[in-house]
Amino acid sequence: MHVTVIGSGYVGTTIAACFAAFGHEVTAIDIDEEIVAALNDGRAPIAEPGLDDLLETHAGDRLTATTSYDAVPESDVTFLAIGTPSNEDGSIDLTALEGAAGATGEALARKSDRHLVVVKSTVTPPSIPDVLEPAIRAGADGNDAVEVGTNPEFLREGSAVADFRNPDKVVFGTRSAWATDRLAAVFEPVLDAETPVIDTDPQTAAMIKYANNAFLAAKISLVNDLGNICKEFGLDAYEVMDAVGLDDRISDQFLRSGVGWGGSCFPKDVDAIRAAAREGGYEPAMLEAAVEINDRQPARMIDLLEDHVALDGARIAVLGLSFKPRTDDVRNSRAIPVIEGLRERGADVVAYDPVAIEAMRARVPDIDYANAAEGALDGSDGAVVVTDWDEFAALDDEFDAMNEAVVVDGRRIVERREGITYEGLTY
Ligand code: NAD
Repeated sequence: MHVTVIGSGYVGTTIAACFAAFGHEVTAIDIDEEIVAALNDGRAPIAEPGLDDLLETHAGDRLTATTSYDAVPESDVTFLAIGTPSNEDGSIDLTALEGAAGATGEALARKSDRHLVVVKSTVTPPSIPDVLEPAIRAGADGNDAVEVGTNPEFLREGSAVADFRNPDKVVFGTRSAWATDRLAAVFEPVLDAETPVIDTDPQTAAMIKYANNAFLAAKISLVNDLGNICKEFGLDAYEVMDAVGLDDRISDQFLRSGVGWGGSCFPKDVDAIRAAAREGGYEPAMLEAAVEINDRQPARMIDLLEDHVALDGARIAVLGLSFKPRTDDVRNSRAIPVIEGLRERGADVVAYDPVAIEAMRARVPDIDYANAAEGALDGSDGAVVVTDWDEFAALDDEFDAMNEAVVVDGRRIVERREGITYEGLTY
């Protein structure tokens, strides 16, 4: 099949490379010329395990990148994988996606046979009939041969390629058997007997994505709430939750209390569905609480550090900047409120991350960055561990170079030992 993927960010690049690996002919479209050039060179514009290898193999062969929408009418199906960030009030900002939807429609205006446009981006259910379909149809000049579907994505950054190739579930939001069949043909290599396929309408499919992310975010917030209670009682939250996780109804995943959830999806998706719910007249109390607990964790971490270190004028090492390990994505990383909070209390911050320094420097240029964890720790008066990169687990003698070896561990990764004043965030 010939598949067009519009938007070459974390999701677009991953799915374009994987579709090429499935054997499809793929055109990746982005407005950013640097991204297009990188893809055509076989280089990933983002850090994601396995992506460079796929691009090196398929770029210039089954995968081509371009800024032009000309390939859209030639292809069998078009995926829209454009970012859907938040407006100031938390509601979904559809500006970029609406623009791409309109341009896709325009490219299809003169096509007479049926074409499927699939919204891969995470979008609130009402935005499909209210904003995106009208944008596509207006661009297509009323072309009825254009059909719109949704296919929400559940990949996780840091394991995006593996997740996309081995999904827990595949969700097709379509309005016809033809559209479902077309999606099934695209996904054929991953649709083995074990992969559940949910075949539903476009808005239900979109809601499944929000329900999924809202559930996970709320689960972590509940675990953090319980972890904070354990800390107050002097108990080990990990030991408690390991036992809780043996209950099949709960599962053992996502039970690690820590500094909270961040990234490019949970915060904005929880905000977007809260805003959409409120707009519809419903106050989502559980999600409000989940956000409040999440907002508190960075300050709790700093409070713990302040129990041991006078922060005004102190040099504090922040270890880990990406929102989770194995990615350079710092969007809504918990490192941001941690750094801000430390600076508000007068500390000088020196930060280190194995891959995310440049991404963080673009957002927070006026702190010190070290080339290695050792460099960040050397001479510092305290350290906070924000991201559970493996290399932080291997740190040992490096703590001896600190002025005061006080460590607040937000991810339970540093080994406790004599000579380190150690505080786990929730244990
Ligand atoms: P991103 O910001 O990394 O990438 C979006 C890309 O779209 C950018 O490269 C941008 O240049 C390009 N773009 C913007 N306007 C364009 C236009 N008019 N034409 C062509 N290209 C255009 O976004 P992302 O993280 O890949 O997320 C995309 C969507 O997928 C979002 O809705 C997100 O919520 C959802 N999602 C993301 C993840 C994730 O882990 N990142 C996981 C599941 C779902």
